[in-house]
Amino acid sequence: MNDPRYSVTGSGFDSTRKQKDLIALAESLGPVFAARAGKYDREASFPFENYADLRSASLLGLCVPEKFGGLGADLRTYALVSATLGKYCGATALTFNMHACSTLWPGILADDLDMTAAQKQEHERYRAVHFKRVVQDGSIYAQPFSEGSAAAAGKAPFGTLAAKVDGGWRINGKKIFASLAGAAHYYGVLCTEDKPGSSMRDTLYIAVPADAPGFTITGEWDPLGMRGTLSRTLLFKDVFVPDDAQMMPRGLYFQAAGRWPHMFTTLSPTYMGIAIAACEFTVQYLRGELPDMPPVKRRMYPTKQIAVAEMWVKLEQTRALFLRMLEDARVDPPKDARLRAYAAQYTIMENANALCALAIRTCGGQSMLKSLPLERLYRDSRCGALMLPWTAELCLDRIGREALYEPGEADD
Ligand SMILES: Cc1cc2nc3c(=O)[nH]c(=O)nc-3n(C[C@H](O)[C@H](O)[C@H](O)COP(=O)(O)OP(=O)(O)OC[C@H]3O[C@@H](n4cnc5c(N)ncnc54)[C@H](O)[C@@H]3O)c2cc1C
Repeated sequence: MNDPRYSVTGSGFDSTRKQKDLIALAESLGPVFAARAGKYDREASFPFENYADLRSASLLGLCVPEKFGGLGADLRTYALVSATLGKYCGATALTFNMHACSTLWPGILADDLDMTAAQKQEHERYRAVHFKRVVQDGSIYAQPFSEGSAAAAGKAPFGTLAAKVDGGWRINGKKIFASLAGAAHYYGVLCTEDKPGSSMRDTLYIAVPADAPGFTITGEWDPLGMRGTLSRTLLFKDVFVPDDAQMMPRGLYFQAAGRWPHMFTTLSPTYMGIAIAACEFTVQYLRGELPDMPPVKRRMYPTKQIAVAEMWVKLEQTRALFLRMLEDARVDPPKDARLRAYAAQYTIMENANALCALAIRTCGGQSMLKSLPLERLYRDSRCGALMLPWTAELCLDRIGREALYEPGEADD
């Protein structure tokens, strides 16, 4: 893909050499991922072959800090790579998000947080264990936090509990919609410390190995879209993990959630990629340039031209907000940047689906045949707005409240 119209940044964007190289690397993998995407979608099977390619390209260590042997991508760089992958295979990009954030959060993001000297020392030792698994062993991490309660929305403590025991933790609980179920080597579980009076401040982030006794995967996975994510149910029954399974020191996840809000925007790049792919498909289709399709042109009809114009306006609005949100991403962002992050997430998730719907309407009946990728893009795009903690609804909820109330303010 050399056409800047369909690159994630567009031409002239101020990106670093490293970002350019990593985007080019993701682009080079893209066509093969796109060719395999239909099979994973049809079978609801995990994109193992794509992960083998990501591993060979060293991209599993994308967000592992350089001093631990990774590529040291920050959130902005991660998002540009992720969106690029999203253009080709939504399920790969979305699951890659869970894996990459399992290294971004304990890595570059945690470096911005306040820790005592003892916590810092402990974190340095523990995260070295996790990063080595990723960089040297090629391990994949999942990120299960949803439980079907208010916890994943960030409004209540997680119901999965970790009790401190000699030399480690004993975990009990259940997670739903855990992407990479059965494919990951480790599951980075968010849970609450099992002690009297525990609250959201006592959230722990602990990695459970796939072969830990007491850990099981259950349930069907036959959804509308993002079928290759294999987001099944995880059960934890007295699962013991050693102390170094902690991915962040006690209290750090809670601090991160408050001070680094852009950590919750990382699902949106996948859908930015899908939005671009829908526009590219539409232009190719109307120009009669799609491979394996008769070279019938439909671009000469004014109705098609207007529809493409509408799509283009929506795409550029979405991309502009996406790139601006990435510029804002930092610890302790000002209030306007936080509101913009909600607005960007909302816009990307809603517009990706709207663009796919417009693409189908514009291209017409043949475009939604299973032999073409558009109907999969449409189904995959539907999932974005549902993803906690920043669902489209919850973004509106937060914008409305936080725009009208300052912290601590209440009505009489
Ligand atoms: C393809 C896919 C992959 C996924 N992968 C993962 C994963 O890897 N890890 C993971 O942890 N989760 C994952 N999820 C789960 C996802 O984030 C949701 O938890 C999941 O869709 C189940 O939530 P629900 O819609 O049933 O939640 P419900 O709790 O029933 O919420 C329904 C809706 O109500 C609103 N809502 C919920 N709570 C509140 C509240 N307190 N106040 C106001 N409104 C609220 C939200 O808008 C929410 O969308 C994935 C989901 C999908 C679709």
